[in-house]
Amino acid sequence: MIPVSKPSIGSKEIMNVMECLLENQISSQGKFIEKFENEFSAACGVHYGAACSNGTTALHLALKSIGIGHGDEVILPSFTMIATANAVLYCGAKPIFVDSLPDTWNMDPSDILRVITPKTKAIIVVHTYGLPVDMDNINEIASANGLMVVEDAAEAHGALYKDRRVGSLGDVACFSFYGNKILTTGEGGMVVSNNKQIIDRVKSLRNHCFKIPRFVHDDVGYNYRMTNIQAAIGCAQTERMYELVLSRLNIGQLYNKHLQGIRGIKLPFKTSAETDSQNVYWMYGIVLTDEFPLSKTELMKYLEDSGIETRSFFYPMHKQPVFAGMGNRELPVSEMLYENGLYLPTYAELTEQDIIFITNKIRELFRVKK
Ligand SMILES: *Cc1c(COP(=O)(O)O)cnc(C)c1O
Repeated sequence: MIPVSKPSIGSKEIMNVMECLLENQISSQGKFIEKFENEFSAACGVHYGAACSNGTTALHLALKSIGIGHGDEVILPSFTMIATANAVLYCGAKPIFVDSLPDTWNMDPSDILRVITPKTKAIIVVHTYGLPVDMDNINEIASANGLMVVEDAAEAHGALYKDRRVGSLGDVACFSFYGNKILTTGEGGMVVSNNKQIIDRVKSLRNHCFKIPRFVHDDVGYNYRMTNIQAAIGCAQTERMYELVLSRLNIGQLYNKHLQGIRGIKLPFKTSAETDSQNVYWMYGIVLTDEFPLSKTELMKYLEDSGIETRSFFYPMHKQPVFAGMGNRELPVSEMLYENGLYLPTYAELTEQDIIFITNKIRELFRVKK
C-alpha cells in the first residue's frame, strides 16, 4: 500500500531525541524548546516564536492573544480543517464562513467583504494544501476595516508569497507539526509573530499564566506546552526545512507532468517562479469534472483496491452538523470542492516510480471505460 502521507525522520531527529532521554530533559523544560522557537521563526522570516502542543492550541493561543473573545466575529474559509473553526469557538467568538475560489481553493476576498460587520475582529487565512493566499488583497481589506489577520499556516511551511515566507504575512501566524505536515514533531505547534507582546502573551497563556511569585495567576491560562522531545525533533526538521520543502515542490511538479492530458481532472493551481504565490504541495489535490468517468468516491475505492491510499477534500464547515443552526450561508464552491476533490499520496520519500504507478492507474480507467 502506498500511504497518503508519511513523516520523514532522519538520523539527527533520532540523535536529538536520544539526547533528551539521556539528559533526562523529557518534559517542557530543556534546551531544544527555545532553540526550536528561534530557528523555526527565523526560517519563516519572523522575530519571535512560541512552541505549543499542537496546531489547534496554536490557533487558540493566537486568537486569545490578539484579544478575540465573547461577542466577536472571526471570518475564515469554510473549506478548511475543523481546528480553524473550533479555535474561534474556544474563545467564545463566532466563526463566519466564506467561500473559496474555484481555481486556488483559497478563501474568496470578495466574499469577505460581504460578511464584515461591526462585530468582526479578525480574518483567519488558511494557505490551503500549501498554496499561499493572495495576502496583499486580504491585508488591504483588513486594514481598511480595522481587522487583525491571523495566518493558519499549518499546511504551508516554507511557502513563499512575493519572496516572503508564509508565517510573516499577517499579524500573527500558526503552524502545526502533526505527523502528516511538511515539518513534523509528531504532535506540536507554534505561534510566530513580529509582535513581541503577542508572543509574550502566548507564552503566558500556554503555561497557566504563571506569574512571579510562582502559583500566582492573573488570568485563566492553559497547559498547552510542547515537550523538549518534540522540540528536539523540530530542531532537526528545521535544519532540513529546505530539503523537505524542495521534495514537496518536486513531487508536485512530477504529478503535474504525469497527470497532463488526462481528461476530467483539474490540477492544483499552477505556480511558477514568476507568480506571487508558490505552491509547496503539502498535499497534491485533484478535482474531478464531469468528463471524468468515475465519481470521487468511486475513484478513491478504485485506487485503494490498487494499493494506493487517498483522502477526500475537507467537508466544508458551513455544512457540519456540529455547526448547524449558526445561520450559515450556502457556499457552492466549497461544496463543489468536497464533492469532487481528493488528494493523492504526498510525502518526501515518494518516488517518481510511485507517481508513475499512481498516474498510470488513473490513465487505465480511460482504456477500460471508454
Ligand atoms: C492540521 C491543521 C490544523 C490542526 O493542527 P493540529 O496540530 O492537528 O492540531 C489546523 N489547521 C489546518 C488548516 C490544518 O491543516
